[in-house]
Amino acid sequence: MAPHIVVLGSTNMDLVAYVPEAPRRGETVTGREFRTFPGGKGANQAVAAARAGATVSMIGAVGTDAFGTQLRTALDHSGVDTDLLRTVEGATGTAHIVVDDDGGNAIVVVPGANATLTGLTHGDEALITSADLLLLQLEIPLDGVVAAARHAREHGVRTVLTPAPAQQLPPELLDATDLLIPNEHEAAALTGAADPHAAAHALLDRVPEVVVTLGAEGSLYAARGAEPVTVPAPRVTAVDTTGAGDTFVGALAAALGEGRPLPSALGWASTAAALSVQRPGAAAAMPYRTEIDAAAE
Ligand code: ATP
Repeated sequence: MAPHIVVLGSTNMDLVAYVPEAPRRGETVTGREFRTFPGGKGANQAVAAARAGATVSMIGAVGTDAFGTQLRTALDHSGVDTDLLRTVEGATGTAHIVVDDDGGNAIVVVPGANATLTGLTHGDEALITSADLLLLQLEIPLDGVVAAARHAREHGVRTVLTPAPAQQLPPELLDATDLLIPNEHEAAALTGAADPHAAAHALLDRVPEVVVTLGAEGSLYAARGAEPVTVPAPRVTAVDTTGAGDTFVGALAAALGEGRPLPSALGWASTAAALSVQRPGAAAAMPYRTEIDAAAE
C-alpha cells in the first residue's frame, strides 16, 4: 500500500519576470517575459512525493485571491489531498522573482496566508497522527513547525525537516526531528563548518540522521554510530535545477514511507532529482514514479 505522507508548509505563487538586466533602485526596465509557477517548498515537496507514488495530504494556507484558487486546483490535479489546506482572508503567499540574462536572480517573498500557520487544529493533529511520515520546511512560522514536529514525535511519526530558508533552529525542533536534510549551504549555516562531512558530523549531535545534498555532486548520508555514505548524482545535462531539492526530498519520503532503507532510498531520490533538473520549471519538472523506476533500473 502507498505510504501516507503529510506535508505542513508553504504554498506560493512564483511570479517571474525575465529581464536583460535587473533594475537598480529607482530604475525601471522592460522585461522580456512574465510567467507564473505554483511554488512554495511545502507544496513542491507534496507534489514530488505524490508523483513518486505516495498518498499525500497538504496542511497549509492560501488566500482569498485568484492565486489561492489556482494553487489549490494545481495541488488537486497533482493528486494531493487539500482538505486541510485552509483559505484565509487576504493574499496568497507570493515570490517575486527577477531573472536576468546571466541566469542570476533576485527574489522577494511575501508570506501572505502562509504567515497564519502558527499552530495546529485538532484536524491537523489527527491527520499527522495517522501519517507514516511528516515533511516540514521553514517557509511558515516556526511555532507551527515546532508544534507539528512535537505532535509527530509524541505519536511516533517519523519527521523529516528541510531547514530552508537557512536559520538557527530552536533545540525543541531538532529534538523532535528524525532526519534533517540541509543543502550544503544550510548545513554550513547551521554548524559553521564549510566542509559537508564536518557539518554532517556536527549535526549528528543534534539529530539521529542527516542527509546533506550536494547539487550535481549528489548527497551525503550520516547516521549516529555508522560510517557516512556518499551517494553520487547521475551525470546529466541540467537545464533548470530549481526545485531539485524539493524533488529529492519528496521522492526520498515516498521511498522511506515504503520501508526502503536509507542508502537505497537515496539512490532512488537522486534518480528522481536528476530527471527533474533536465526539464524546465520546479513542480512541472517533477517526475512520476514510472519514470523514476525506469531510470533507476
Ligand atoms: P534547489 O534549491 O535548487 O531546489 P537545493 O539547493 O535544495 O536545490 P541541491 O543540493 O542543489 O539542493 O540538489 C538536491 C539534489 O538534486 C542533489 O542531492 C542531487 O541528487 C540532485 N541534483 C541537483 N543538481 C543536480 C545536477 N546538476 N545533476 C544531477 N543531479 C542534481
